[in-house]
Amino acid sequence: MNNRIKIEMQSKPVNESFARSAVSAFIAPLDPTLEELADVRTAVSEAVTNSIIHGYAMGDGVITLEMCICGDLLTVEIKDRGRGIKDIEQAMQPYFTTGPEGERSGMGFAVMKAFMDKVEVFSKPAEGTVVRLIKRISSADA
Ligand code: ATP
Ligand code: MG
Repeated sequence: MNNRIKIEMQSKPVNESFARSAVSAFIAPLDPTLEELADVRTAVSEAVTNSIIHGYAMGDGVITLEMCICGDLLTVEIKDRGRGIKDIEQAMQPYFTTGPEGERSGMGFAVMKAFMDKVEVFSKPAEGTVVRLIKRISSADA
């Protein structure tokens, strides 16, 4: 089964749960296991939260969620046009954070990597960030 959906949303914390629900609904036809579902929801949530908190520093902005099923492969891209990341490799290290002191643990990317098969990050300071999450949904056979 191949399918693609693109959603634009405002950068607001309330839309984190929308993004989780959207990806759940999108992959439902693949009949994912509960674990796969939880993994994907968590990873997407981390990326959207990052766009809201870091990309747009809680200000206005647009976040694009682009989801694609190609056979049994799920790809989710979370894109913002926020402040971008200077050093991607450093940002992806566990415990690295730039964000409000004491509030963030610097584990978002580590969580995404643990729960997805592949995580790719494209970013440029002042231009924005794209996080691409890829996971094979094992029960997919449609
Ligand atoms: P946690 O996710 O544990 O609450 P965190 O968000 O700081 O903490 P990560 O999600 O791993 O940790 O992100 C690491 C760092 O990468 C962030 O502190 C921030 O500097 C940068 N970053 C991540 N996503 C973005 C983004 N969309 N735009 C700009 N900077 C980002
Ligand atoms: Mg984070």
